[in-house]
Amino acid sequence: MAEDKKAQDVAMELAEDARESKWEYRSFTAEMFRGNFGWDLMHPFPAQSAEDKAIGDALLEKVKEVLETYVDPYEIDRSGEYSREALDKLAELGLFGMKIPKEYGGLGLSVQNYARVLGMVGSYCGSTVTYLSAHQSIGVPEPLKSFGTEEQKKKFLPRLAKGEISAFALTEPDVGSDPAKMITWAEPSEDGSYYILNGDKLWCTNGMDPKTSLIVVMARTPDKISKSGKPIPQISAFVVEMDSPGVERARRCMFMGLRGIMNGALTFKDVKVPVENMIGKPGMGLKIALTTLNTGRLGLPAAGIGTLKMFIKELEQWSNSRVQWGKSVGKHQSISKKIAIYASHLFAMQAMVSLTCAFADQKNADIRLEASAAKYFCSEYVWKCLDDYMQIRGGRGYENPLSLYGRGEKPSAAEIAMRDMRIGRIFEGSSEVMHLIMAREAVDTHFSLVMPIMKPKPGQKESRIALAWKAFKFYSKWYPSTYMPASTNFNVNKLSGANRAHLGYVSKSCKKLARRIFHTMGRYQQKLENEQVLLGNFVDIGTDLFVMAAALAYAEHLLSVNPGDQTPQELVDLFCSEARRRIEANFKAVNHHHNKKYVKVANLLMDGKLQWLAKDAITDVPPKYRDYAKNDYEHPETKLTEKK
Ligand SMILES: Cc1cc2nc3c(=O)[nH]c(=O)nc-3n(C[C@H](O)[C@H](O)[C@H](O)COP(=O)(O)OP(=O)(O)OC[C@H]3O[C@@H](n4cnc5c(N)ncnc54)[C@H](O)[C@@H]3O)c2cc1C
Repeated sequence: MAEDKKAQDVAMELAEDARESKWEYRSFTAEMFRGNFGWDLMHPFPAQSAEDKAIGDALLEKVKEVLETYVDPYEIDRSGEYSREALDKLAELGLFGMKIPKEYGGLGLSVQNYARVLGMVGSYCGSTVTYLSAHQSIGVPEPLKSFGTEEQKKKFLPRLAKGEISAFALTEPDVGSDPAKMITWAEPSEDGSYYILNGDKLWCTNGMDPKTSLIVVMARTPDKISKSGKPIPQISAFVVEMDSPGVERARRCMFMGLRGIMNGALTFKDVKVPVENMIGKPGMGLKIALTTLNTGRLGLPAAGIGTLKMFIKELEQWSNSRVQWGKSVGKHQSISKKIAIYASHLFAMQAMVSLTCAFADQKNADIRLEASAAKYFCSEYVWKCLDDYMQIRGGRGYENPLSLYGRGEKPSAAEIAMRDMRIGRIFEGSSEVMHLIMAREAVDTHFSLVMPIMKPKPGQKESRIALAWKAFKFYSKWYPSTYMPASTNFNVNKLSGANRAHLGYVSKSCKKLARRIFHTMGRYQQKLENEQVLLGNFVDIGTDLFVMAAALAYAEHLLSVNPGDQTPQELVDLFCSEARRRIEANFKAVNHHHNKKYVKVANLLMDGKLQWLAKDAITDVPPKYRDYAKNDYEHPETKLTEKK
């Protein structure tokens, strides 16, 4: 128990250390958690400029042609093989250099255009979009752009822009969401000119592709010793050449979906990595990884939105043409509801991602929380919408597209999309981890004011009385302000009646959210950090408020440029009505919950007291595989597929 607590403390300290606590620019979501509604940040909606849009349009046309000529998504899914020719054609278009600045040979695309390309590729083939996204959303280009030296950029970026592939290796067999347990070790050489890297990395996307030549590896470097003599674990980031002696592509991993990706387990044995290949300074690794993921996280929602777009046409045709019980299935109300949720949530996700990409391009707002919210919300709702789409298609939704085609029917890849997209809720920070990141910021104001009083840190300079006075001064102003009507920093009169009402709700709910977080903090105090479900309720409220605001701003924009088309109004109105229902349920769950019962039953299971539930079931793996711990078996699918 004490060991568990210690491990949790180390994980928290490391996460806290890597967390960027300063806000250089405003953040809509951070302000919202304090009760402010920053409508001015998103209204008027920052639409893509005509010039930037034209660049994206021209590229999308070429991307479509290459995809349709060289990529067969059904065959990739069936065979688990990805065509080298297709990768070469994508590279010729510059798609491995989309985020690399032009001066280093890349396309230098805006974040908005990058998201549009990933959206189109995502609407066609999940494996292809993962190849591109792992390479530049998390692979070498992004961290080098932000933290690399000029020499590093000149040395590595032009190679990648030309089509060499990169990857990102953080995960290890015992390290998933908790990098504090990292074992991969980089020891400085005696003469200080290189590091010696040893360790195993798991599930490295692109890691098994023979064209992957550079990889970002996160590794422990010698601990820093604090002033009080306490060792502080250091994680550092390195660019490693894949052809360095000691790097082994150990085994390809195969998954439920994304069957064309070349993902694998890598081992590093006494690999010499020159010191000049370290990105940033020793100990900056996690910060680099987190910063990389800020914009990187937008790739996944963009691809997910693309996947939903793929089925819009089919949704229209199928729901009309499939007639059961005397009418089109789309006219049965329970199916209408699914269609409507699909369309309205796709609209809202598009608004949220376009807005956050525009923030990233304009560099006028901090997108840390917005990117986490987009990653979390989109991966959850892409999954929900795909599940609904499969349901609407009935048995044909569950049938493989090649099987449909073989029977002479129009193929539709609902089941491939579901298998491909399910991972969105797990990788690049799981939904639970997104909750943790956002919850930390939701309580930040109160934690930073109150914690030093309740639990002073060793060496803390200010006295508890001085800190209590500071907190009193803040709360005596801030708390009453959460009951005041929202200051009208937005011109509501220009909006439609329905949107004005939704906007008023968002504005009021921001204050209510901030107040309720404060009350809950008072009630649970330090223990609040362990109340994940409760904090999750707050995060879900905050996320829905952010998406509502983005969707309202986007709808207003579309209505103003094309007043003849009122469809955005219907979509935003439905989305907001749904979101409001979820928000009210979440507010209610903060005071009326049975979270302790979840913990109790989970503990019963974990303590082995519920095994009787499995009576009459075969709970062991099939006999042939029961020696899994001893036998390093070579299953044909997992065998290393080194292609020449
Ligand atoms: C197809 C695929 C591609 C991948 N590509 C890469 C890659 O290119 N590079 C790379 O480094 N990694 C990659 N990964 C790894 C991926 O990022 C991890 O799977 C992910 O980080 C989760 O880690 P884990 O699987 O070890 O789960 P764990 O961390 O063991 O978590 C298990 C469960 O517990 C939850 N959990 C964990 N900690 C907490 C907590 N504190 N509070 C609440 N819940 C918690 C998690 O959300 C999850 O539901 C890939 C994985 C897959 C499957």
